[in-house]
Amino acid sequence: MSTATELIHSIPVDPLTGAISVPIYQTSTFVQEAPGVNKGYDYARSGNPTRATLEQLIAQLEKGTVGLAFASGLAAIDAIVKLLQTGDEILAVDDIYGGAFRLFTNVYEKFGIKVKYVDTSDVTNLLDAITPQTKLIWLETPTNPTLKISDIEAIGKLAKAQNCLLCVDNTFASPVLQQPLALGADIVIHSATKYLGGHSDLIAGLVVTKDAELGAKIKYLQNACGNILGPFDSWLVIRGIETLHLRVKQHCASAQTVAAYLTQHPLVDKVFYPGLKTHPNHDIAKKQAKGFGGIISFTLKNDTEEAAVQLVTKTKLFKLAESLGGIKSLISHPANMTHKSIPAEKRRSAGVQDSLVRLSIGLEEAEDLLADLEQAFIAIQQTKQVLQQA
Ligand SMILES: *Cc1c(COP(=O)(O)O)cnc(C)c1O
Repeated sequence: MSTATELIHSIPVDPLTGAISVPIYQTSTFVQEAPGVNKGYDYARSGNPTRATLEQLIAQLEKGTVGLAFASGLAAIDAIVKLLQTGDEILAVDDIYGGAFRLFTNVYEKFGIKVKYVDTSDVTNLLDAITPQTKLIWLETPTNPTLKISDIEAIGKLAKAQNCLLCVDNTFASPVLQQPLALGADIVIHSATKYLGGHSDLIAGLVVTKDAELGAKIKYLQNACGNILGPFDSWLVIRGIETLHLRVKQHCASAQTVAAYLTQHPLVDKVFYPGLKTHPNHDIAKKQAKGFGGIISFTLKNDTEEAAVQLVTKTKLFKLAESLGGIKSLISHPANMTHKSIPAEKRRSAGVQDSLVRLSIGLEEAEDLLADLEQAFIAIQQTKQVLQQA
């Protein structure tokens, strides 16, 4: 059976009523027959049937054993960091999601957890940086926003040899394109806010582990710390996942078209998209993923913040907003938006140049997206000419 068919039919029909859509169990507690005798649920922080359906679904999609749903992607990341002890080190991808950087550095360093950031697209950088204290390797692949690709299988072997956990933030690829647990990762996390939800209408995070015992430890933290996803948002993520395969297919196809257009545009300097043969890790992306995703970033020929800011305010279909993975195309300027909390020097050395623009390709027709970008490029060129004449 194809994975799409399997996915659609893995969302259960309600055994009680036959409802074809998963019921939303909007309840805080569950009546018990006798103390401790219940139908599998006692209090909704510890477990809720709607959330449990989502948790089983994501575990199945990522080919793991335990799935857990959190109030946000960052709450999911936070639960993983809480597996560590004072003195432990995290080795993280340098081009990391800004919020994860802020959490690791500004929140956890004061508890004595050290973080080192390296370019994980070259495995030798990890070999050089790893120490006996390294207990967690943190990857995003593709990364945000420069779309670097790291070899999950090679890094998984290294993590195993060093007895440390490998966690992959799989937000950009989604399980449709990439399944890190099958490639040797121990944990996968998602900001379900993005492709899994898919409609820019919720904030949610998911964790999946390969090992049941590790999953139980994180489930303990989920209940102990209380960062759970509510039943209605769990239902919205399930509803989003129902069309994930179709959406991701279209995001990938349109992104490839837009990336090709950008590479030949005279105002564009570099284009970052793993689906381009010129991408330095195109072969690894091809080996470990079924597609290249819907995110593209690029820099402008005159690498100025001013030109990038002008461009992102001139598009009409591409809405200027943080986030990604929804049906509407978005445009953003990472240096001023998602990556503002990273110090400028560190940001630039991780490849986030001042003129870098990021696109999240939505589900509009690709030719309409090309026309929108074209009119924005023409508009900034005209402004430049006016400025030069003045
Ligand atoms: C958005 C995002 C997060 C954080 O998720 P939230 O749901 O916003 O808390 C983490 N990682 C990546 C790659 C993201 O894009």
